[in-house]
Amino acid sequence: MTASHASRAHAKLSASGSKRWLSCTPSAELESHFEETTSDFAEEGTAAHELSEIWLKFRLSQIKSGEHKKLWEKAKKGKYYSPEMEDYVQGYVAIVLERVSEARKRSKDAAVLLEQRLDFSAWVPDGFGTGDVLIIADDTMEVIDLKYGKGVPVSAEDNSQMRLYGLGALDGYGYLYDIQTVRMTIVQPRLDSVSTEDLPAADLVAWGDDYVKPRADMAAAGEGEFAAGDHCRFCRARSTCRKRAEENLELAKYDFREGSLLSTDEVGDVLGRIDQLQKWAEDIKKHALDQAEKHGVRYPGWKLVEGRSNRIYSDRDAVQAALIEGGFVEDKILTPRELLGITAMEKAVGKKKFEELLSDLIIKPVGKPTLATEKDPRPELSSAASAAADFND
Ligand code: SF4
Repeated sequence: MTASHASRAHAKLSASGSKRWLSCTPSAELESHFEETTSDFAEEGTAAHELSEIWLKFRLSQIKSGEHKKLWEKAKKGKYYSPEMEDYVQGYVAIVLERVSEARKRSKDAAVLLEQRLDFSAWVPDGFGTGDVLIIADDTMEVIDLKYGKGVPVSAEDNSQMRLYGLGALDGYGYLYDIQTVRMTIVQPRLDSVSTEDLPAADLVAWGDDYVKPRADMAAAGEGEFAAGDHCRFCRARSTCRKRAEENLELAKYDFREGSLLSTDEVGDVLGRIDQLQKWAEDIKKHALDQAEKHGVRYPGWKLVEGRSNRIYSDRDAVQAALIEGGFVEDKILTPRELLGITAMEKAVGKKKFEELLSDLIIKPVGKPTLATEKDPRPELSSAASAAADFND
């Protein structure tokens, strides 16, 4: 069965939120008291999924060229369509077609299914999701997921969303084929990232039975212990969740040693806590402003006031006409026309043309030094002091 992108319903225990409710089982019940919101990024992602489906169906001969043209023309009129999106989607489609052709080499009867509803309710109450692409060939089943965001690369390794899709695929089609391996792949065309996890089908089922099922039952019943962590970022209760507040205030408490100044070790420790504290503080501020502005909530000691603003022209054409009339020449009152910035240019002309025409004209200046944790993959820079010491040596 195929599912439309815009109407991809969200189950209470959704695959995309599984990292959260598996780590903090009562969050699913707590979240249900908050409205589900959508964002421009989510809608842009939906548009990219729709466009990729149109192209995949055509390239896989599931629709004829007349229907493809009609659907494509309609997609091109969409709010989020751009030459840049077209390029990224074509990149994703090429990767999927590569996987399909590899599968066909293994088995000429390889099955390719698009937009399949994957039901994993055998492990998670009412659990289902949508697999963008499902390829079944020989003893291997591959689930491919397009992620159109350009935030951070998402790994398919140990990824609970992909594993739940894998379980759903196995449950839905496993009885037709002798599946030994489930391959789960995430493609992020805007980050040039493709990540895959291969898991023996038996191990995936054991993960579902031993780890997911008991936790999903607890989550559905609103039971278990609250547990804060990175997964709080996407929780609808994140701004006012007591557990998250307690954890962050605990983080902020610091057992300082004697002395008027912090030691290097102490500064290092505090650095490790700042990002999480900052995110939590921003969530609280955003939530409080939203409540005060939209729902009239008053917080003791705080009031809603008008923010600072800068002067703007009410009618730019009238301003220009008045200045010319007043005897000023255009060179004096108009700024010269400027090139678009790099991101806007890439969006305007498309990634392919951008690379074709401008690749030799784009440079990447050396970035300003920044502090990162030791796990960060970038090589360590030598500081001015250690460079001087090296020189003296
Ligand atoms: S904010 Fe974090 S700790 Fe609180 S319910 Fe959500 S996931 Fe659990």
